[in-house]
Amino acid sequence: MVVGDISTGTEVLVVGAGPGGYVAAIRAAQHGLDTTLVEKDAYGGTCLNHGCIPSKAFITASSLAHEAGHAEEMGIHANPAVDMSQMRSWKDDVVDGLTGGVEKLCKANGVNLIEGTARFKDDGAVRIEHGGEGQGSETVEFEHCIVATGSRPIQIPGFEFADDPIWSSRDALAADSVPNELVVVGAGYIGMELSTTFAKLGSDVTVVEMLDDVLPGYEDDVARVVRTHAESLGIDFHFGEGASGWSPDGDGAVVETETEDGETASYHADKVLVAVGRSPVTDTLDVANAGLEPNENGFLETDDRMRTDVEHIYAVGDVVADSPMLAHVGSKEGIVAAEHVAGEPAAYDAQAVPAAVFTDPEIGTVGMTEAEAEEAGFTPAVGQMPFNASGRAMTTGHTDGFVRVVADEDSGFVLGGQIVGPEASELVAELALAIEMGATLEDVAGTIHTHPTLAEAVMEAAENAQGQAIHTLNR
Ligand SMILES: Cc1cc2nc3c(=O)[nH]c(=O)nc-3n(C[C@H](O)[C@H](O)[C@H](O)COP(=O)(O)OP(=O)(O)OC[C@H]3O[C@@H](n4cnc5c(N)ncnc54)[C@H](O)[C@@H]3O)c2cc1C
Repeated sequence: MVVGDISTGTEVLVVGAGPGGYVAAIRAAQHGLDTTLVEKDAYGGTCLNHGCIPSKAFITASSLAHEAGHAEEMGIHANPAVDMSQMRSWKDDVVDGLTGGVEKLCKANGVNLIEGTARFKDDGAVRIEHGGEGQGSETVEFEHCIVATGSRPIQIPGFEFADDPIWSSRDALAADSVPNELVVVGAGYIGMELSTTFAKLGSDVTVVEMLDDVLPGYEDDVARVVRTHAESLGIDFHFGEGASGWSPDGDGAVVETETEDGETASYHADKVLVAVGRSPVTDTLDVANAGLEPNENGFLETDDRMRTDVEHIYAVGDVVADSPMLAHVGSKEGIVAAEHVAGEPAAYDAQAVPAAVFTDPEIGTVGMTEAEAEEAGFTPAVGQMPFNASGRAMTTGHTDGFVRVVADEDSGFVLGGQIVGPEASELVAELALAIEMGATLEDVAGTIHTHPTLAEAVMEAAENAQGQAIHTLNR
């Protein structure tokens, strides 16, 4: 650890070691650039420490417990006891393994690692304050900088994450006991993933959402499958209600809500999870000193090379304007930025970006919906395969949902897909590849798929769009 204020230089300085930043740093080093990565908290960022990975660990473990306790039909009679403290410790081991791996990979690729908080002094240098008393600070001059400072959960007025019964997603993922009653504010993807998790672990879950359905942005028939299943898990939804305040009640809280018409309601909770979205982090690094001006919502605008208005300063990941807040998007942007710095002809020009929601069942989407295809001037050919007609889905006991493929009727090119059902997060990769490769319905339908697999439903949906499905009625 460096003590005192010394000054060093680097060709590429990356600020933030989440999936945007660490990937950018490794790729820059792979191109032979002298690269320094500075992180104030933990390697792997939100994704590995407080987001994708811990949430998926809890989702897997809670689903296993739930399935084992609900498999009488298969002849399995069990009543699994959940030791939340052990579950958390297993989750922490998964996280530690991955974050340790990121640190090792960075070092093995020759990335210089500095622990501390970077703040711009000007557009050519940052001052890095090291954590801990007496650890001092240092100045690092850079030729190029990649800002990858990510995002944080949005707080709503009156619901401070610092107050005990109020949980951010990060607090929920650090839980070592299961609340008897959980109120979740927000039915977006994080709210829905965590509602499902805690419902499966035994909490009585109430979800309060201002809009009129779960998962805004997803098509009605996709969201409906998830909502219906969540209701069957006992989750109680209250749509059209905004959380307006809360008051302490013993160790818990009473949450008050209000509709647009001024009708009020209240719900008791041991914990209150607020999951209403995330906002970009630019205030940790004094961006104005470098001449950067975040937009009105705090995001940094970039071009398709990930350059900000200050040409030698790039931005990647959640901090970027008009870019989905997804780990794989941040990593792709990180690669583009690093390669552009290295003089490669890199640009962010993804044909389509897949997204997944790890609810029960899962959602996987990519590219255009039917309505979007029409709006873009295509005549869409749409095919669908319900999972209740899939042999493999039946053998897993999970038959809710469907695969839908959207293509251009004239050329047959696959334009998009919406999957809701078992392993949708995995299955969507086939359609993402199809779109990226310019595959047609014929290509997808003509590819021999292993039997019996869930992936056969993708093939069958493509056949259905051509009016040639065997295992479902053609439209
Ligand atoms: C509960 C939850 C579940 C999620 N699930 C998924 C999922 O399933 N799939 C998916 O694709 N995405 C998921 N996400 C979103 C995903 O975590 C983010 O899109 C991703 O982490 C963004 O990566 P990033 O590199 O831009 O930023 P981050 O991962 O947020 O990393 C930014 C890093 O910068 C550091 N930093 C900030 N300021 C400074 C500074 N001044 N100096 C030094 N370091 C600094 C921070 O400490 C942090 O480590 C989830 C998020 C949450 C909260």
